[in-house]
Amino acid sequence: MSLFAGNNFKGQKALIRVDFNVPLDKQTYAIGDDNRMRAAIPTIVKILKDGGSVILMSHLGRPKEGPETKSSLIHIVGHLQQLISKAMGVETAVQFADDCIGDDAVNKSAALQSGEVLLLENLRFYKEEEKGDATFAQKLSQLGNVYINDAFGTAHRAHASTAVIAQFFEKGKKMFGLLMEGEVKAAENVLHKAEKPFTAIIGGAKVSDKILIIENLLERATDIIIGGGMAYTFMKAQGGQIGKSLCEDDRLGTALEILKKAAEKGVQIHLPADSIVADNFAADANTDTASSNSIPDGWMGLDVGPDACEQFKNVILRSKTILWNGPMGVFEMEKFQNGTKTIAIAVAEATAKGAFSLVGGGDSVAAVNQFGFADKVSYVSTGGGAMLEYFEGKVLPGIAAINS
Ligand code: AMP
Repeated sequence: MSLFAGNNFKGQKALIRVDFNVPLDKQTYAIGDDNRMRAAIPTIVKILKDGGSVILMSHLGRPKEGPETKSSLIHIVGHLQQLISKAMGVETAVQFADDCIGDDAVNKSAALQSGEVLLLENLRFYKEEEKGDATFAQKLSQLGNVYINDAFGTAHRAHASTAVIAQFFEKGKKMFGLLMEGEVKAAENVLHKAEKPFTAIIGGAKVSDKILIIENLLERATDIIIGGGMAYTFMKAQGGQIGKSLCEDDRLGTALEILKKAAEKGVQIHLPADSIVADNFAADANTDTASSNSIPDGWMGLDVGPDACEQFKNVILRSKTILWNGPMGVFEMEKFQNGTKTIAIAVAEATAKGAFSLVGGGDSVAAVNQFGFADKVSYVSTGGGAMLEYFEGKVLPGIAAINS
């Protein structure tokens, strides 16, 4: 059993780093998407049900010059209260400290009783948070007697509340929460325990953003599907005509290098045989289908084509482990969402047949949610940047701080 699940929090004050960085409406401050809040509820509820109390800390937005109304966590108190009350089955008030350190935070956390919840104001109202300042981290640490990191989305940052703070808690008094545990376990499953065939599906706009992850995956995967805008840099590098498709001319050499390494290692790289091309980057553009390596001048590839869908689907359906990061096309526009949708359906089908599938990275997560496939894959990661860095093979400071 994990440290968190095996712990009884009765009488303990748990200081939890959560990721409540949710989108807020600019005018009304209404919450746009509360998935990140929902994801933290199981950890909070376990502690409260054990008879402990909870002090929540998070960042919100990117405040540059100290406190600002638009980035205040006060806007989420009401909704948080509803989510916790519903999960607890009893009305549970959420108190708020309008500063994450200082007298108000100290007094309110000291007075917390079993079953009570306190939310601290935005950590990033202090520059010390992102700088990883040890004095600031120590002040935060004094608010609770157990530290729990449940913010996978910021695990790749060595910030005061995500990493530095852990040194002020003894072993056994610092641990991952349920969300973080789930993320780490799913990522480990793919990186270190992958059953083969292992297919990585990499899409999105740019090769430059995905080079490190592809290089790391060349050591582990049997198949790598490359779709999205980045596929055209690979096409051009091999002498293809790509019209006005997205291309990073300074990465043509990198693309060839990746193809060469893959051939040496026996990793199959699958590029889209055909594309849905458009005469314009617009939802109402004229469209056609073309081979991905002979796109006419004046046209651009904005989605993978029907042959590519078939080709990718077949690879996915024979896989035992699947990692998906990045869309196959401009899925935000209806005319160019078929490729991404086809992948989502195939990943769901492979999962139903017993494959382990992990979807991560902002846009592919948005896509599985949009197409209603989130509960048909094995795991949907909440951490875009963190997950990418994990799969690049980097040590994440938020994970290392707990494990050390
Ligand atoms: P990323 O953040 O790198 O995963 O890229 C995601 C973005 O790539 C999405 O907004 C997609 O619309 C965009 N994208 C995917 N395929 C293409 C393409 N063929 N041309 C231009 N943009 C694309």
